[in-house]
Amino acid sequence: MITKTTFTVTVNPKIPARLSRMEELANNLWYSWDRETRTLFSRIDPRLWEAVGHNPKAFLKRVDESLLYKAASEQTFLSSYNSVLSAYDAYHAEPLRYDHIEGFSSPDRIAYFCFEFGFHESLPVYSGGLGILAGDHCKAASDLCLPFVAVGLLYRQGYFFQTIDGQGNQHAIYTDSDFEVLPVEPALHDDGSEVHVQVALPGRKVMVKVWRAIIGHVNLYLLDTDLPENPENDRLITHQLYGGDKKMRIEQEIILGMGGVCALQEMGIKPTVWHSNEGHAAFMMLERARNLVRQGLDFASAVEAVAVNTVFTTHTAVPAGHDHFSKAMMHDYFAVFCHDLKISWEEFMVMGHMPGSDDFNMTALAAHMSRTLNGVSKIHGDVSARICRDLWPQIEPEENPLTYITNGVHVPTFLAQEWSDLFDRYLGYEWRNKMCDNEFWSLVDTIPDHLFWSMRQTLKSQMFYGIRARLTEQNRRNRGSEAHLDRLLKLVDPINPSALVLGFARRFATYKRATLLFENLDWLRKILLDPERPVLLVFAGKAHPADIPGQDFIRRINQVSRLPEFEGRILLVEGYDMRLARRLVAGVDVWLNNPIYPLEASGTSGMKAGINGTINLSVLDGWWEEGYDGKNGWAVKPVSDDTDAALRDKDESQSFYEILQDQVIPMYYRRGKFGYSTEWVKMAKYSMTSLLPRYNATRMVNEYIKKFYARAHAQGAHYAKDNFANAKNVSAWKAKVSAAWGGVSLQRLDTPSKRIDFGNILNFKVATKLNGLQPDDVVVELLICRQYKNIRLNSFKHFRFDFVEMSKTQEHLFELNYVPELCGMQEYYLRMYPYHPLLTHPLEMGMMVWV
Ligand SMILES: *Cc1c(COP(=O)(O)O)cnc(C)c1O
Repeated sequence: MITKTTFTVTVNPKIPARLSRMEELANNLWYSWDRETRTLFSRIDPRLWEAVGHNPKAFLKRVDESLLYKAASEQTFLSSYNSVLSAYDAYHAEPLRYDHIEGFSSPDRIAYFCFEFGFHESLPVYSGGLGILAGDHCKAASDLCLPFVAVGLLYRQGYFFQTIDGQGNQHAIYTDSDFEVLPVEPALHDDGSEVHVQVALPGRKVMVKVWRAIIGHVNLYLLDTDLPENPENDRLITHQLYGGDKKMRIEQEIILGMGGVCALQEMGIKPTVWHSNEGHAAFMMLERARNLVRQGLDFASAVEAVAVNTVFTTHTAVPAGHDHFSKAMMHDYFAVFCHDLKISWEEFMVMGHMPGSDDFNMTALAAHMSRTLNGVSKIHGDVSARICRDLWPQIEPEENPLTYITNGVHVPTFLAQEWSDLFDRYLGYEWRNKMCDNEFWSLVDTIPDHLFWSMRQTLKSQMFYGIRARLTEQNRRNRGSEAHLDRLLKLVDPINPSALVLGFARRFATYKRATLLFENLDWLRKILLDPERPVLLVFAGKAHPADIPGQDFIRRINQVSRLPEFEGRILLVEGYDMRLARRLVAGVDVWLNNPIYPLEASGTSGMKAGINGTINLSVLDGWWEEGYDGKNGWAVKPVSDDTDAALRDKDESQSFYEILQDQVIPMYYRRGKFGYSTEWVKMAKYSMTSLLPRYNATRMVNEYIKKFYARAHAQGAHYAKDNFANAKNVSAWKAKVSAAWGGVSLQRLDTPSKRIDFGNILNFKVATKLNGLQPDDVVVELLICRQYKNIRLNSFKHFRFDFVEMSKTQEHLFELNYVPELCGMQEYYLRMYPYHPLLTHPLEMGMMVWV
């Protein structure tokens, strides 16, 4: 027997002085949306660039020194290098802009917390839509030079890499990241020492190291517990994204929320607006409250002070998707914590109470401790308002404070480089600064049709190269034959990419119904197998390792794709990540989305497709219900959501078949004398024109600034001044109102008229019992709108009553004289709610009485 030891040594190349700033480029995620920077790296050694997963830092540690010196001596390379650096320097020379928000000034910041961030495949701390959206939010904040800081976790393994075997089983491959080669570096104090903070967990303190990632003008701080000082169990807390059990999850959320607040404090960063993206980060609100209680505030006032500048965004439309923890588990982690807050255990649990369950619900916590709340599309805002209705029990969901801002995508990240070059030529370099200018984008029409069409074909052809590589590897690993591979790739022809390609790629969550198009295989056969008009259907996506039905979808797709007649017509590509996503959204002809209405909170992949001239064919749910205008794609109207699920699938799949067969395929193949379809180009151009200026992340972040951040900042300052005088005022007032409200009442005194002449006055009189409240503690209001045969013709207008006098029976009398503005039948209501001018939302108390 031979015993031997393996020794390893890593040999790092020296970077030539001429290229010294390559390291700086590798350490700034600016490269995640600047393709020319990435091209610079790949040009030096394309194979290594692929091998290191497009990671510039890993690349620089492994590339042959001679190749670096060769590049440094080539004029063409140096000129690209210089042009990249000049763009980089120009971008970073812009100062931070405080003028986005009135009263905002250095060192004010907006802090954005999220469980996952997706910037680029080289930083694997994302799983899907939520993370990519958070990444896009940061990138757009950077583009706007917004004083903005982000906080997340640095996962050792991140999310898994997916392979799919010959039977369609998904295999989750986790690999440890070497933080040395991730685009992060330890966050440092001014004296050069590393930033570490401690977070208390039951019976122990966990050490947390803070890392910094640079995203243009934005710093992202990532927390890491995998330190030798910590015992093994604690080292594992930041091991996997969405891995582990409930205990792991609550510990991760405590590290993110509480550790995140400590980390910012430790670095002297003092945000004036705090944004919790999803409920995972909501413990940050409790940590902030604890700090204020330590400063001497009572808990109720601390809640007001925290909530007033906290923004909470919810992303799921499924109540079960909201994180919640059992009472027992909460007791383990927070029994001691309530002493810090100086409240009882019962009072603490109320903060996470969602009526209908005993668990501590993170959405409820976030809703109790944020005065600004939103969903991510109009439909999702409505759905969320209904899910959370009991948190404002006397308010109709349409009126409660939960509103919406529709998502958007970061255009430079997801727009193919080829489009960006073409825009430079036909729209002018200015297009980058016209992101939200609807009119400007009609210039897309000036791109000649044949050029537009051939650009689409070029992008498809590039996608085909990518798919061929992945499927070849997949087939080799699964021991498929060459002959079989040829069959699979028959239509995937980069030389002649003329077949119509439909794409479906996203997480395989059940509600997304990946297999909807398999409802009627005979019909699908007719659609895909026409020899004159071939159609290719491409699938990609991951299922969470614990999601068994999600993995069944993958098996089912695999099974159908292996039916002899579908071979080479239905492809299942493994390893969905940002890189494959970028290729697919730009390369396929039609982007499919068929979720169960109303469960697609927003969806963003369809936006990525739309900006690249790929046409959407989707169920009217999430963003598409707003984005679709009748001409910029195709839409399937969901059947009523109380229909039986099987019937619904049948009906909706039928709509998909009909649209594909009657509209999509004939239009695509109606080729004119120059070999392309003018109608197709017209629709694709219009889709780009209508979607790009609306569904981009700049529009989204601007909307957050104008609607939320500005107000949160102003209200925060207003509540905090004079040692939180207004926070105390509001909490004292709320306590008074809560105690009194059970005894208030509202009664109408005037006799309702049934009919009056136009121009005459309606005189309303009400008597209220205020149970100790004062007339200016309430608003008495008339709500009126015109109706015709039970249909409301406009939205309600609101008119306030005036307080007149106290009656002999100690009731407060209010009066309103109102002259109807319109003729016809009017529908109206009288109501009263508690009101204080310091409130952020007039109905935030959730209290209301109606006549
Ligand atoms: C955009 C994107 C998503 C989100 O896709 P949806 O269709 O909105 O669910 C998920 N994963 C990756 C890699 C993406 O780029």
